[in-house]
Amino acid sequence: MLELGSLGGPGNCVRYAFTTRAGGVSAAPYASLNLSLDVGDDPADVTTNRHLVLERLGVPPAVWLTAQHGGGVATIGTTVGVPIGTAIGTVQADPPAVDAMVTAQAGLPLAALSADCALVVLADSDVGVVGVAHCGRPGLTAGVIPNSVAALRELGAMSIRAVVGPAICASCYEVPREMAEAVWSAVPASRPRRDDGRFAIDIPAGVSAQLADEDVDVVRHVAGCTLEDPALFSYRRDRVTGRMAALVWRAR
Ligand SMILES: [Zn+2]
Repeated sequence: MLELGSLGGPGNCVRYAFTTRAGGVSAAPYASLNLSLDVGDDPADVTTNRHLVLERLGVPPAVWLTAQHGGGVATIGTTVGVPIGTAIGTVQADPPAVDAMVTAQAGLPLAALSADCALVVLADSDVGVVGVAHCGRPGLTAGVIPNSVAALRELGAMSIRAVVGPAICASCYEVPREMAEAVWSAVPASRPRRDDGRFAIDIPAGVSAQLADEDVDVVRHVAGCTLEDPALFSYRRDRVTGRMAALVWRAR
């Protein structure tokens, strides 16, 4: 586990976790704590890995997102999205096709997966609402971060705090010029501050700016570049590889 922490609430009941490659049973190239069922790994190994994470965290089965690279958000366990009990088994029956989820439900961990994209956990622990978002280059322009904040506010959130997980850094994320310029235009903070003539996208900076624009208090950035750190999964480095998770939940 890269990081296990609290976003407050009575008795620090809003908890979150970020995983790494460490632990788990998956073989190369998914070694070893791959949590995605959609990357070609043995589903039995992924299921075992998910159990290991949930057991380590002491939480009930989670809703696991599959990355869509868009701006969609599902509200889970209330009026929209997945009814409690259907998609929260060991292997998801019908995960919502979105890149973020929010819930006011206690005891329901929300999990998002990535390799290079930023994962963000969000909560208003006083109101008791939590969310998780997956945001890479398309998510920045599609607005998955502001959409997640809006969905939390619809559930009553007033004062939202966030933790941003590790992602690919600007130095490692050069893209074609047109692609970079489109993202810079939509999210100016995603343009690397050091202008060295390269066309790169700064996902962590873009995510941070979008959170700040929404008056979200980023209480922590989990350090690390996914491409540079061999303890983390990186799609850009390895192509065929596993996925790490961010989980957030109300313990009660
Ligand atoms: Zn890097």
